[in-house]
Amino acid sequence: MAQRILEPGEIETLAQRSIPRVRIPARTAVFARRAARLRHLGARAGIGDYLRFLAVLVDAQHATLQDLSVPVPTPAHIQGSTEHGMPPLQPAVWPRGDAWFETLRILGEALAAHADFPAAVAQTVSRIRRASRDWIEGQADALLQSGDEAVDAAAAPLVMASLQVHWAAYAASFAAEKVSPLDVPGVCPLCGTQPVASVVYAQPPYQGYRYLHCALCATEWHMVRVQCTRCGAVGKSIAYQSATLGANPENDGSAAQSAVRAETCEECHGYRKVLYQEKDPGVEPVADDLASLNLDLLLGERGYHRASGNPLLWQPDGN
Ligand SMILES: [Zn+2]
Ligand SMILES: [Zn+2]
Repeated sequence: MAQRILEPGEIETLAQRSIPRVRIPARTAVFARRAARLRHLGARAGIGDYLRFLAVLVDAQHATLQDLSVPVPTPAHIQGSTEHGMPPLQPAVWPRGDAWFETLRILGEALAAHADFPAAVAQTVSRIRRASRDWIEGQADALLQSGDEAVDAAAAPLVMASLQVHWAAYAASFAAEKVSPLDVPGVCPLCGTQPVASVVYAQPPYQGYRYLHCALCATEWHMVRVQCTRCGAVGKSIAYQSATLGANPENDGSAAQSAVRAETCEECHGYRKVLYQEKDPGVEPVADDLASLNLDLLLGERGYHRASGNPLLWQPDGN
């Protein structure tokens, strides 16, 4: 039987279609994996105490998420968002309701139950637990409209953690194949938030593909490799740097030793990190990003700017 030979453009189209575009967070795994990774990395990272503190917080996120019931977007809302090219769970539009504040209270309780944190941490937790609802809502607004000077840096991880639980629950109500892609590849197709980092997976059906990880709802979406996630530049503008090695192309043997590398761009002088599951099966975007702050320091010295911040470490310039 005669076979029609595919033109190059058709081959690319078919390849794109076969790549799963979106990975929806699993309620049972998203925070459990993160907490385990924080503990693993906390044993050796320079900021181990902070990672172990966060592991307790993320444990509480996991526990809260398991039974959390949230109002899911209606088909009409989703369709309206799609027609306008907007993500359906935009934090500025999607109502937070009262439940997220109750989640914040539960997370604060879990932290307060740990007597072995440093005094400054215990004081911050106590301060947040006593804070007024208005102040907390103002902090949430400031965090979600990132870059706002009103953010209280010490309180930010706890407030953000509560928001993450709810947005992960909203995201988990979606089926991956029903999520519409946006025209802007650098933001989450469900909530419009910027990614914390990206992961190149090692297992089918995601093997060899790169996914950006949403800092708020933990949804992951596909983006081709060797392309700036900030400005879209490709080719020679893109290089990879690790904390122990210099600049290298992605397929360079020496750079490939590291599971965490920064993808730098000579067009916008921005960067985000890429985690390689093939090098370390346990990599997790939020945890590994925090544990590799030495790479951020190195890139700062070299004149590169972080494209967006880590949700559990508020830094005014990086968010
Ligand atoms: Zn998102
Ligand atoms: Zn760029």
